[in-house]
Amino acid sequence: MKLLIPNSETIELKTLILDLNGTLTLQGRIIEGVGERLAKIREKGLRIFLLSGDTRGNAKEVADELNIELVKASTGEEKRTVALELDPTTCAAVGNGLIDAALFHVVKLSIAVMQAEGVHTKSLMEADIVVPSILNALDILIDENSLIATLRP
Ligand SMILES: [Mg+2]
Repeated sequence: MKLLIPNSETIELKTLILDLNGTLTLQGRIIEGVGERLAKIREKGLRIFLLSGDTRGNAKEVADELNIELVKASTGEEKRTVALELDPTTCAAVGNGLIDAALFHVVKLSIAVMQAEGVHTKSLMEADIVVPSILNALDILIDENSLIATLRP
């Protein structure tokens, strides 16, 4: 997926990295509307990964239900390392916790979600974009013009 940002650069996204708790799920349950949006993003050719410390022990169940790849990452440093191996210049990431701050720092496009479980201020400060919910985050990835409007200088 290519984003031609006017008066700026062209961003090519190949991978979407998602956090679990407080991002895809609230109180352990998948937020309604996530699945259909991830299907649309997959149709755009992006590989989708769930990177999680798996606090609740349900990461595999969620990854299977959403048909996305699961990589266990128990610390912020581990999430960052996974992104570095995937090529962070072509990665977008969505998350909310302190564990996402180092990941947000290295990826090309980082989106913080400010949902009911909160967003850590360190991750907020590392994020390129902050949105109220995961549905908003996925919608701007589906409608590239929304994203371009937010990113253009
Ligand atoms: Mg989280």
